[in-house]
Amino acid sequence: MTIDTKTIIVVGAGVFGVSAANHLFRELGATTYKIKLITASEYVYFLPSAVRLMISKDYSSSILPLKKVLDDGVQVVKGKVASFNPKDLVLESGEVAKFDVLILATGSKWPDPISSTCEFGDNYKMHFEKEASRIADANHILFIGGGFVNCEIVGELIFKYEDEIRIGKKSISIIHNSDKLLPNSGLYGDTLREKVTNHLADHGIKLYLNTVGTLSSTTPNRIIFGESALEHVDADLVYKGVGISPNVPLNSISNLCDNKGFIRIEKNFQVKAIEEGNVFAIGDVTNFRYHGLFKRDNWIDVLTRNVMGFLNESSKANLINASSYESGHVPSGVSLGPNVGFGQLPVPLLGTFNLPSFLVARAKSKNLLSDKMESLFKN
Ligand SMILES: Cc1cc2nc3c(=O)[nH]c(=O)nc-3n(C[C@H](O)[C@H](O)[C@H](O)COP(=O)(O)OP(=O)(O)OC[C@H]3O[C@@H](n4cnc5c(N)ncnc54)[C@H](O)[C@@H]3O)c2cc1C
Repeated sequence: MTIDTKTIIVVGAGVFGVSAANHLFRELGATTYKIKLITASEYVYFLPSAVRLMISKDYSSSILPLKKVLDDGVQVVKGKVASFNPKDLVLESGEVAKFDVLILATGSKWPDPISSTCEFGDNYKMHFEKEASRIADANHILFIGGGFVNCEIVGELIFKYEDEIRIGKKSISIIHNSDKLLPNSGLYGDTLREKVTNHLADHGIKLYLNTVGTLSSTTPNRIIFGESALEHVDADLVYKGVGISPNVPLNSISNLCDNKGFIRIEKNFQVKAIEEGNVFAIGDVTNFRYHGLFKRDNWIDVLTRNVMGFLNESSKANLINASSYESGHVPSGVSLGPNVGFGQLPVPLLGTFNLPSFLVARAKSKNLLSDKMESLFKN
C-alpha cells in the first residue's frame, strides 16, 4: 500500500521558521507528512543579541548550529528561495520543490552591521570581525536613522568607547527625521523616546534631530543635508538603517504585498492574495503592525493549529485568529549597553507604564535575551 504523503515547506530559519517547523513535526509526525525547512545557513542567528556582536565577539550568545534547535525529523534543504507560486518554489540552484502547504518566514533585510544569514550564510565570523574592525578603526561613525536597532548599537558603542568619546578621540552621530529618537510611528511613547534621546545625548552622541540626510553620490561617507550640497558632514564609517525591508522571493502574485512590501496576511496567517489558502506567512515578513517576539507563543500555536486545520478540511476549515498589538504602544525594552535600558509596557484600559531602568537592564540589557534564545527557536 502506498501512503499519500503531503509536503509542508517552511522557508527561513529564523525564530518563527524553525519553531513552526518543529511544532508541525511534533503534531503531524513523519508518516503522512514531510516537513521541510529551507535555510540559507547551517546556523541560526538570534537578532535581539546581535547588537553586541561587534564589540563582544561572543558568538555563542547569538549564533547556534541549526541542528541544535531543529527536531531530527524535519528535513533540511540548504539554499535560498528565488521565486515561488501557490504550488511550488524554485531555489537559487534551479531545484524545484512542490508543496501542499507553504509557510513563508523569511523575515526582513537588516543593514550592516546587523545583516542576516541570508547575506553572510555560514560565514558569520568573517562578517562580524570585518564590522568590528571597521568600527574600531573609525574616528567618526555616523548612523542614518535613529530607530530601535541603531539606538541599541550606539548604546553598545558608548559602553565600549566611553573614554574615547569623552576625550573626543572617537565621535558618534545619529541623523534622525524626528524630534526624538525611535520612530514617531505610534508604537513608542514620548517618555521612552525622550529617555533614549537624553541618554545618548548625555553620553556625547551628536544628534541631528528633525533632519534628513542623504549619502553623497560623489564623496564617500559624506552626508548631505537638505537639497543642496552646501551643508554636509563627513564620517569615516556610515551605517544606514532607515525603515525595514521584508524578504519576499520573486513571484507574480498580484496584491501579495502592501505598499511597504510586507506580505498581506489574515489574522490566521493565511496569505490574503492566495485563494487556495495553502500559503501562510509569519514573523517580520508579514504586514502585522507589530513585529517582535512578545506574541511568539500565541503566533506559533495559532499557525500550527491553522495549518493542521487546513490540511484536514481544506477551505472548510474554521481557522482561528492570532492576537497582536493592533493599535497604541507596544511593549518594548531598549537596551543601551549591558547596564542601561529603558522600557514601556502598555496595559489595556490603564495606559502605558514606563518601566524602571534597573528592571529593563536586568531583564534585557544584561544578556540581550540570549538565555532564552535556544528555547525560542526550539519550542
Ligand atoms: C537588532 C534587533 C534587536 C531586536 N530586539 C528585539 C527584542 O528585544 N524583543 C523582541 O521582541 N524583538 C526584537 N527584535 C525583533 C525580532 O528579533 C524579530 O521580530 C524576529 O526575530 C523575527 O523573526 P523572523 O523569523 O520573522 O525573521 P528572521 O529572524 O529575520 O529570520 C528570517 C530567516 O529567513 C531567511 N531567509 C530570508 N529570505 C530567504 C530566502 N529567499 N530563502 C531562504 N531563506 C531566506 C533568513 O536567512 C533568516 O534565517 C529585534 C530585531 C533586531 C534586528
